[in-house]
Amino acid sequence: MIPQRRHLQVLRESTSQEDDDHFRDECGVFGIYGHAEAANLTYLGLHALQHRGQESAGIVTTDGEQLHLHRAMGLVQDAFSEQQLAQLPGRVAIGHVRYSTAGGSHIKNAQPFAVDYAKGSLAVCHNGNLTNADALREELEQRGSIFQSSADTEVLVHLVAISQEVSIEDRISNALSRVQGAYSLLFLTEDTMVAVRDPMGIRPLCLGILPGNKDAHVVASEPTSFDLIGAEYVRDIEPGEMLVIDAAGLRSTKLKDAQSPHFCVFEYVYFARPDSHFNGRSVYEVRKNLGEALAREHPVEADVVIPVPDSGVPAAVGYAAAKKIPFEMGLIRSHYVGRTFIEPQQSIRHFGVRLKLNPVEPVLKGKRVIVIDDSIVRGTTSRKIVKMVRDAGAREVHLRISSPPTQWPCYYGIDTPTRRELIASSHSTDEIARYVTADTLGYLSLEGMLTAVAGPGRPSNGFCHACFSGDYAIPFKTNVSPKKNTRLVGV
Ligand code: SF4
Repeated sequence: MIPQRRHLQVLRESTSQEDDDHFRDECGVFGIYGHAEAANLTYLGLHALQHRGQESAGIVTTDGEQLHLHRAMGLVQDAFSEQQLAQLPGRVAIGHVRYSTAGGSHIKNAQPFAVDYAKGSLAVCHNGNLTNADALREELEQRGSIFQSSADTEVLVHLVAISQEVSIEDRISNALSRVQGAYSLLFLTEDTMVAVRDPMGIRPLCLGILPGNKDAHVVASEPTSFDLIGAEYVRDIEPGEMLVIDAAGLRSTKLKDAQSPHFCVFEYVYFARPDSHFNGRSVYEVRKNLGEALAREHPVEADVVIPVPDSGVPAAVGYAAAKKIPFEMGLIRSHYVGRTFIEPQQSIRHFGVRLKLNPVEPVLKGKRVIVIDDSIVRGTTSRKIVKMVRDAGAREVHLRISSPPTQWPCYYGIDTPTRRELIASSHSTDEIARYVTADTLGYLSLEGMLTAVAGPGRPSNGFCHACFSGDYAIPFKTNVSPKKNTRLVGV
């Protein structure tokens, strides 16, 4: 007889969103053309982009005649075994990491998408969101298209397949002329890789090259992913630019409808790794500048400046330096928090947030503390952090945020709550300060943020800032939800 096992009681499943109250980047893309270890290098590139999506990962390669695809749920390291990578032959590969919310977390929505159609095989990876995807999907379904997923990206595959153009670049251009929204895309056919960025350049995409192999081009969401594979950054792919890479080399063309650039300012504030750079601006330096600007706009007498790690660190460095107040690590972050955990039945104060952050009492006890974070979304985590700092003995807690209040959802490829859930959409700064129980609260102004991000002497009008201002550059139907599977996380 098999002895009955006693199990701990699993009280609830936590996601990385819970007790980490941030907007979430939804995807990262990586591609390489012309290297014998294309799949392995793509695996490493995706590993470096893991912060852009943790729920699924996939790679498709071509051996010149056929596409080979593997995709799975989970982190990059869990999605691929050595054997699975060995079954992805060829010198060209594209890959994808994806974040999604609970309802949308399904292998059928994992990318790359790969299909066979009348002209051959086609795979695609997408970072962004197509704002007219629902209307296009309806139209395509009316004429007989059958969809395998609920992802907007699949619309593109169908549009390329039905295009009457001949070359793959013309088919893709033709398909993109029908779509609106934000996209950084990688396409792969049996012999060609295509990288394209939307006309406003909302989501990032950059080009690199492997030294010693001038034909080995790499394309990725962030240049920091090049470092791990020894590739050299060449340049950002321009808004509305299409790069076609095949046996004839690399050629650049422009999509027809050029528009003024609107690069996502939140990439600088939070999404991108601090060791990345875009448009010639180091993300780390920009975040420090945001902290300096915050210090100028919202000074306060204090004994110590501490960041909410990791994302608040550079801004806290900038704030502390600007005000000549000591910088300390008053909160320590655990880097080993998984998606699911067993919660003890006996209540532990700040249990959820304590999984990720723990206070350093000697840094905080008896001090007037300035806490620097990059944003407040619902306010629930800020409230727990302020309480944790106070419970550790802080005399005063002053919360400073290195971006303006997030009042609007993102429709351009970022996982955000509905407007109702964004605390700043319905509460003043004073009300939020009271809710999070901070002695004072200060947000960086929109002008302050844009000036700091643009850098000295550079125009500050080339950015999307819709989630702060409500100024949406690309239209969308008002009944369209920013994402289909909003998860409401309670207080
Ligand atoms: S709305 Fe905000 S998060 Fe979305 S693209 Fe614009 S700046 Fe980025």
